[in-house]
Amino acid sequence: MEKLLDEKLPLGILFHLRTKDCLPPVRKINPHDFHVATRSTSREVNRRIALNLVREHQPLSRADLARRMKVGRGVVSVLVNELIAEELIYEGATGQAARGRKPVFLHVRTHDRLVVAVDLRFSRTYLMLSDFGGRQLALEIFDTIFSPAELIRELAARIRRLLKKHGAPPYCEGIGIVVPGMVDHLTGRILNAPTLGWRGVDVRDQLAAATGTPVHVENAAKACALAQMWLGHKNDGGTHDFAYVSVSDGVGVGLVVNGELVRGHNSIAGEFGHIPMNIDGPRCLCGSTGCWEAYISNIATLSRYFERDSSRIEPVTVLDDDGEPFTIADLIVRARADEAKAKAAIGVTARYLGIGLATVINTLNPSRIYVGGEITGAWDLIDGEVRRALAERAMTNTAAETPIHITPAVEYPRLRGAAALVAAPTYAAPRVA
Ligand SMILES: [Zn+2]
Repeated sequence: MEKLLDEKLPLGILFHLRTKDCLPPVRKINPHDFHVATRSTSREVNRRIALNLVREHQPLSRADLARRMKVGRGVVSVLVNELIAEELIYEGATGQAARGRKPVFLHVRTHDRLVVAVDLRFSRTYLMLSDFGGRQLALEIFDTIFSPAELIRELAARIRRLLKKHGAPPYCEGIGIVVPGMVDHLTGRILNAPTLGWRGVDVRDQLAAATGTPVHVENAAKACALAQMWLGHKNDGGTHDFAYVSVSDGVGVGLVVNGELVRGHNSIAGEFGHIPMNIDGPRCLCGSTGCWEAYISNIATLSRYFERDSSRIEPVTVLDDDGEPFTIADLIVRARADEAKAKAAIGVTARYLGIGLATVINTLNPSRIYVGGEITGAWDLIDGEVRRALAERAMTNTAAETPIHITPAVEYPRLRGAAALVAAPTYAAPRVA
C-alpha cells in the first residue's frame, strides 16, 4: 500500500512511503558520475510519471490521472498543462458524465510524430515508416547490401523518398536501426555482427549526416525488449523484469532488470546465443562450436532438416534439395502436414530452445520471457517440448513455470524495436544520481 505523505507539498516534491517494500532498495550512488538533483529534477520525475500513466491507460481523464497519482486535481492540472505545452500529450474526445462537467480525455501524442525504423538482417533489410507508437504507415523490403557505404547511400535515398511520398515534412523525429550483432551503446558503432561480417562499423553518424536526422543503432533483441517496455499495451506487470529472446537467422536476448535494459560494461550483455550447449557441437556462425544459436536459429533448424553442415549453409537463401528457396515457414508447413522429418527437426529445436530458456531463467529469474521470430509460427506444435525441457533444467518449480509469451512475426517486433529506439527516451525516467 502506497501512501502519499502530504499532497499539499509543493509541486514536484512527491514522496511515497513504500510500506510494501520490506527490503529497502540498495542501489549505489556513483560518486564519480552523477547529476545533482534540483527542484526541477523532482518536477521532471512527476511529469514523466504522469506521461507514462496516460500512455498506459489512455484515454484517461484528468480526474482519473489524479486518482492514479494519488494527488490533487490542481497538481495534475499543472503537470498536464506542461505536457500539453511540450506537445507530448493532447486532449481528445469528451467523455460521458452523469452530471456536471464532461471529462476531456488525455492521449499521448503519437499519430503525427514520424519515425523511420530499419531492421537490418543477414538476408533482407526491412524499412518502415511508423508513428511514435510503432504503428506501421509504410513498409519496404530489399536485399541487404553488405558494403556499409553503399547501404547508407541506399537507406538515405529510400528514406527521403518514403518521407516525401507520405507527405511528411523532410524531417522526422529519428531513425532507429536494429542489427544482428553487438553495438557500442555510447558511440553507436557496430562492434561485431558475425552474419554481416562487420566489425567496428559506423552506420549511425554517417546516416545521420546523409539524412540530417538523428540515428540510433542497437542490437535487435535489446531493441525488442525496449519496444516491449515502451510501446506495449497496458502494463500487465511484466515490463520490469523480463527477457526477450529473438530467434531468427541468429539468436539474441534482450534483458530488462529493475526496469532497465542491461547493456553490460562493454555493450555485449545478453549474448546467450553463444553460450555453449556442447563444446563438440555444430559450428556456429560466430566461429565457435556448439553455441545455443547453432542448435535453434532458423539456419540451424533448416540445416538439421536437410542434414547439412550449418556452417556451410549460405544463409542469404537456403535452398531445398531441388534448388528452390526454402524458409523456416516452409518447414513449419511440412510439420503441420505431419511430415515426420520436419516434425523431428523442429522438435529438436524446441528441446534446445527450452534448455536455453532454463539457462536464462536460472541466471536472471525474470518474471516472464517473450519469444519472437519465425519459430513462433509453430508454437502450438512445440510448446509442450519447450516446457518439458525447461522444467528439466529450471532450478525450482516456480522457475519452471515462468510464463512464456509469444510475439507473432506478423507484428514485426524488430521493426517496433527500431521505432522504440527513437521513442523510448521520451518516456524514460530522468537520470539522477
Ligand atoms: Zn556462436
